[in-house]
Amino acid sequence: MSSANHTYALADEAATLALGAALAAVLRPGLTIYLHGELGAGKTTLTRGLLRALGHSGPVRSPTYALVELYVISGYILYHFDFYRFNQPEEWLEAGLDEHFNQDTVCLVEWPEKAGDLLPPADIDAVIEVVELENGPADGAADKQARRITLNAQSERGTSCLNDLRFPPVTLAP
Ligand code: ADP
Ligand code: MG
Repeated sequence: MSSANHTYALADEAATLALGAALAAVLRPGLTIYLHGELGAGKTTLTRGLLRALGHSGPVRSPTYALVELYVISGYILYHFDFYRFNQPEEWLEAGLDEHFNQDTVCLVEWPEKAGDLLPPADIDAVIEVVELENGPADGAADKQARRITLNAQSERGTSCLNDLRFPPVTLAP
């Protein structure tokens, strides 16, 4: 199986949102994306960028207590999971969460490592890390920390998706 592995520096929140938008352009039904990273890394921000690009205008928050939020938008059935507070894998089947992962849905999963081995495998495994900017921001203001994200394809579907990804987006001169 061919594989795709992309690493990007994300200088600020706008860059994280823009990568989310770029991912929105290459979604396929059946796609599952795991989002790894510490609290505040930017998992929800990336998801927000993706959903906004699909046309969602309302808030996008981590569904920490509800575990999952459903968005039906732009022809996609999209589930956004957050398993941060998940500690009883048996709840998984009782809640019917397994049924959300199928060939018709797109699933974005924060804290997949907390869901145990019942979680279906990812097509794309994303790891977001907080990194110190070498030179600091030009204006010396906030945002001294940027992010680095690595996207690993783990299936043919994930590979074809990442091969289509255009980031940073090509901008044409005016
Ligand atoms: P998580 O879901 O991983 O816990 P959130 O997306 O809720 O994290 O929060 C991420 C925080 O980091 C937000 O305050 C956001 O503005 C900020 N942020 C997101 N991307 C970047 C980036 N590339 N550089 C600096 N700050 C960022
Ligand atoms: Mg979150």
